[in-house]
Amino acid sequence: MTDEKDIPPKMRASAQQVPPKPLPRPQDPVEQEFWDRCQDGNLYFQRCSECDTFRHLPRYMCAKCGSPEFSWEQSSGMGTLFSWTITHQALHPAFAGDIPFIAAVVELDEGVRMATRLVDCDHDKLELDLPVELDFETISTDFRLPVFRQRKG
Ligand SMILES: [Zn+2]
Repeated sequence: MTDEKDIPPKMRASAQQVPPKPLPRPQDPVEQEFWDRCQDGNLYFQRCSECDTFRHLPRYMCAKCGSPEFSWEQSSGMGTLFSWTITHQALHPAFAGDIPFIAAVVELDEGVRMATRLVDCDHDKLELDLPVELDFETISTDFRLPVFRQRKG
């Protein structure tokens, strides 16, 4: 029997296990609420109570009119591809099985843009304004992370 201590660290069985994907680490309560609301399988954005402008990333004041008042409104989940890059290198070991993957910025019908991933999309189908729709990827047993896929029809 070989003691694991005799094996170089990167060769040990414990080092070969794929760690779970990291979860978002919200910095404040309004960001925490954004992620908490995703867990029902829908996406919600803050909407200004004064001028009706949607906001994302979560924040305490409207970027347009400065009002602190808002409500959470469910997103249509519909949008278009605003920008993307194909990632060939896993900067965290949990993503090694996913490369190459599409890191994308989606513009939602509500007017906000969101950094996300585009899943199950042929790379030769990628083009600006590609219609996309919301889906969720479950990571770390039960956390729902919003992703997007090409819209059908
Ligand atoms: Zn406003």
